[in-house]
Amino acid sequence: MKSIQWRLVFIYLTLVLIVMISSGTFIIWQIRDNEYKKIHNELKNTAESIRENIVSDDGSINPRWKDINTWVGDRSIFINKKIYILDDQGNIIIPDTEENGQEQWNKRVVYETIISKKPAVGDPVQILEGGLVQEYVDYAYPILVGDVLKNIIFIRASTQETSNSIAIITNIIVIASFLALFITVIFGTYFAKTLTEPIKILTRKAKEMAEGHLDTKIDVKSNDEIGQLTESFNHMAEELNQMLLTISGEKNKLETVITHMADGILAFDRKGHLIHANPAAHTMLDMTDKEQYFYDIFKRNGIELSFDEFLTMKPGYIKQHLMLVKDKYINGCFATYGRKKGESDGVIIVLQDVTEQKELEEMRKEFVANVSHELRTPLTTVKSYAETLLDGAVDNKDLALSFLQVINNEADRMTALVQDLLELSRLDNKQVKFNLKSVNIAQLIIKSVEQHQILAQKKNQNLGYSITNEKIIINIDPERIQQVLSNVISNAIKYSPEEAKINVSLSEEEDFVVVKVTDTGFGIPESDLPRIFERFYRVDKARSRQMGGTGLGLAIAKEIMEHHKGKIYAESEYGKGTTITMKFPK
Ligand code: ADP
Repeated sequence: MKSIQWRLVFIYLTLVLIVMISSGTFIIWQIRDNEYKKIHNELKNTAESIRENIVSDDGSINPRWKDINTWVGDRSIFINKKIYILDDQGNIIIPDTEENGQEQWNKRVVYETIISKKPAVGDPVQILEGGLVQEYVDYAYPILVGDVLKNIIFIRASTQETSNSIAIITNIIVIASFLALFITVIFGTYFAKTLTEPIKILTRKAKEMAEGHLDTKIDVKSNDEIGQLTESFNHMAEELNQMLLTISGEKNKLETVITHMADGILAFDRKGHLIHANPAAHTMLDMTDKEQYFYDIFKRNGIELSFDEFLTMKPGYIKQHLMLVKDKYINGCFATYGRKKGESDGVIIVLQDVTEQKELEEMRKEFVANVSHELRTPLTTVKSYAETLLDGAVDNKDLALSFLQVINNEADRMTALVQDLLELSRLDNKQVKFNLKSVNIAQLIIKSVEQHQILAQKKNQNLGYSITNEKIIINIDPERIQQVLSNVISNAIKYSPEEAKINVSLSEEEDFVVVKVTDTGFGIPESDLPRIFERFYRVDKARSRQMGGTGLGLAIAKEIMEHHKGKIYAESEYGKGTTITMKFPK
């Protein structure tokens, strides 16, 4: 009885049944009541007729009528009735037969009349006669003389016919009821179907919608409540569809952002199982598809972390961990997400590659240490020489002069250092303005070589150039490039012994103009070669200082070359010589 259709049919049936039973009962009761009332009247008339005919005024019975049943047999009024005359005690006087006393009388009716001296009627009784059930009604009528009960007329009337006709009517009503119930089932099923069919369609479509087919529209067939419900359903589906489209659009956007972002993102469920990892996270932690659990991923990289510790973190709280993965510094931000019944659903980790920041930080620290160190040596020298002078050395003129010379040299060195630092700082901050113009680089080289000739001659070095094409025009800032050339040539002179050969060559490549400064000097060990362009890096510190170097010359040269979109690099064989190559884009 789960479907509404059958429930409706059941309701119809119950209603029809109630109506039929109540109306049937009422009809039968009415007919029966009417019939018995008629019988009672008839019995009363019969009794009165008998009284008139056989009872004299003093109440005595005319003996002529001893065989009363034979007499009444002629008259229609007495048909189907047995008549007895009783004395005042209820004993049969007429008919005087042997069967008397064997009749199954309704004694109650007789006694009622004896006591009340009024006519009494009994309820219909059913008696078995010759194998057939017969229905009778007993009736007692008092014969009174004045106030004294003389005799009683007792009539037993057969009501079998009435009973039969009531039974027929009952049967008709029962059959009619069954017919009505049968018709009710047929029509009820049909009516209920017209009601439940749209609901069924609606339910089916709602199920389809729930499965995600939100674009299916339901036909609105009527304007009644179900029609309105269908319309509301269609509207709801449309809204839902729109909302889902918006949400999935947002989700796509978010997914694209997460996929392409530089930061790594990892999401784990409560059990530490990996749910999501973007490509950046894969790269940062060098993950393979086999690693599906928190501990697998981190332990493989040698990182010991407690997943439970993160899982029990308060919402909105973030824990940071700096991890060294291979040669990279990765900063991990750990946070929990979702919180049903006070428990988080898992852990989200955002990974940031902070190697560059970390290196910059290191470089900054190193730089400060280097600057302090570079300044401390000359300052200590100046201080100690000045103190010696103050302590009396000033009186010895020759000594004082040589001391002052040292102080002056150290001051020069500090000035050079500060100037180089300022120059680098300006280059870093892009404060240096480059005056780019078309310049004949050949002329610039010749000029630089000539400027360093005296310095080279002092060391008996052979400084020359080999230029095949004396007119190569490129777009550069001549002063800055002159500075680079000067630094590289002076380095070649500084780091080469006496009699060494230094050559500056100029050549052209497809896209570049190439300047090479080659010397037959001390050379640079292979391990130091990649670092000579770093700030303050010196292969032989003592020699560099002795030569008045600051360790910043090549760093400045590199900055200037990069500003020209050019390159500078060194090739060297330790003990044999060095070549510094500068390439300018054409
Ligand atoms: P510095 O002021 O010490 O010369 P640079 O930055 O110019 O500083 O050079 C860095 C270091 O590179 C020098 O200290 C030196 O050790 C090495 N170097 C540079 N040029 C040469 C060269 N031609 N031959 C050998 N070593 C060189």
